[in-house]
Amino acid sequence: MAAQELPHVVIVGAGFGGMESAKRLAHTPVRITLIDRQNYHLFQPLLYQVAIAGLVPSQIAYPVRTIFRNQKNLTFQMGEVTRIDFDAHYVKMDGSVIAYDYLILAVGGQTNFFGLQSVERDAFQLKNIESAIATRNHLLEMFERASREADADKRRALLTFAVVGAGPTGVETAGALAELITHVLAKDYPQMDLKEVRVLLLEAGPHVMPSYPDGLRKATTGLLEKKHVDVMLNAKLMDYNGGRITLSDGKQIASHTLIWTAGVRAAELADQLGIQQAASSRVVTEATLQLPNHPEVFVIGDAAYFVNGNGQPLPMLATVAQQQAKAVVKNIRKMLMGEQPESFHYKDPGLLATIGRNAAVARIWGLSFSGFIAWAIWVVLHIYRLIGFRNRLVVLINWAWDYFFYESQVRLITKE
Ligand SMILES: Cc1cc2nc3c(=O)[nH]c(=O)nc-3n(C[C@H](O)[C@H](O)[C@H](O)COP(=O)(O)OP(=O)(O)OC[C@H]3O[C@@H](n4cnc5c(N)ncnc54)[C@H](O)[C@@H]3O)c2cc1C
Repeated sequence: MAAQELPHVVIVGAGFGGMESAKRLAHTPVRITLIDRQNYHLFQPLLYQVAIAGLVPSQIAYPVRTIFRNQKNLTFQMGEVTRIDFDAHYVKMDGSVIAYDYLILAVGGQTNFFGLQSVERDAFQLKNIESAIATRNHLLEMFERASREADADKRRALLTFAVVGAGPTGVETAGALAELITHVLAKDYPQMDLKEVRVLLLEAGPHVMPSYPDGLRKATTGLLEKKHVDVMLNAKLMDYNGGRITLSDGKQIASHTLIWTAGVRAAELADQLGIQQAASSRVVTEATLQLPNHPEVFVIGDAAYFVNGNGQPLPMLATVAQQQAKAVVKNIRKMLMGEQPESFHYKDPGLLATIGRNAAVARIWGLSFSGFIAWAIWVVLHIYRLIGFRNRLVVLINWAWDYFFYESQVRLITKE
């Protein structure tokens, strides 16, 4: 069959789900068009490292065209998909129209501010390279401003850093930030009294790491305390104006930095499609990951609302997106052969989160680890999962350097 006659699979999103789908379709008799509004794949789990000046963006992002250079059945198009006509089978991207036989929607998520407009306006978030760099610039600038501020109250407000949301991203960010301050910035600002610096981790619920088992929650709290992170539980944020945090019990905290890690929802495109959405605006799928009434359309990853065996929706994790990608590719192959697609079943690979240098919590193969062993597992896994040999090597060298010398290498304040 001529290449042009092969079934056309369009994949929207070159994140974890889209990339995995595209790679796994390499030897299937289809043509693939992979679309993303960015020309790179971003390893989001390490975004907080960019925000705390530990890594530079090019170490956690990789150009899509380079990744697929040798995959002959794939074309990449950079652009934003704004509309999909499910009846006529085409997607609309920046004015052009691309027809599909099969469509994989892997558009991921975006920060959920739960309608808190003041927070959306004044808080920092970790969702893309731009937001991570803005956070890094701001953190470093707070130290610069504090270093020349004579008023003690104003200085303390500049040096109070609040992270909101004690899930894995918030815990990782708070732990790494505390370490950056005590081990690195302390050396850059020797005249500063570190007792004035506070890293707060605010959590609306009664626990850190709500989805983790109790033992690991306790270990996490202990590790955070060791790093001098001030964990505040049952602390529900009501308002933030760029200088003051207001909690639901009326308590106010003077702070010029609020990093919001308390929520994710499906990407905006999900709202434009006129299809059923559930919690966090995620698109409801069939057990086979197909869109109801549109068997040629699959939705995966953060954008998909898929209820697990325990009645709960699957979490927004890279591992979920990758396993779903694998299942969708298998189903497309089955459909090409005239067979029925199969239901998706998630295999939980465990839990893993780091809390600064030398400390992490993990639950793997039913066993819980904390401290150095968990951190070593975290380092190996994250380096292994980065795309590109050069990135792996450079990040390994970076982390080894930090490990031995407590020295973060990219403390640059850059103008946007
Ligand atoms: C700070 C942070 C830390 C995290 N840590 C972990 C972790 O430790 N472990 C873990 O398993 N998961 C972690 N996650 C979650 C993980 O990154 C996501 O679950 C995963 O990226 C979801 O994969 P996806 O393919 O659904 O979407 P994504 O990887 O987000 O990819 C979506 C892609 O779609 C593109 N896109 C969106 N809309 C459009 C459009 N309209 N047109 C064109 N392109 C579009 C985007 O540019 C993006 O490239 C973390 C996430 C964040 C933000």
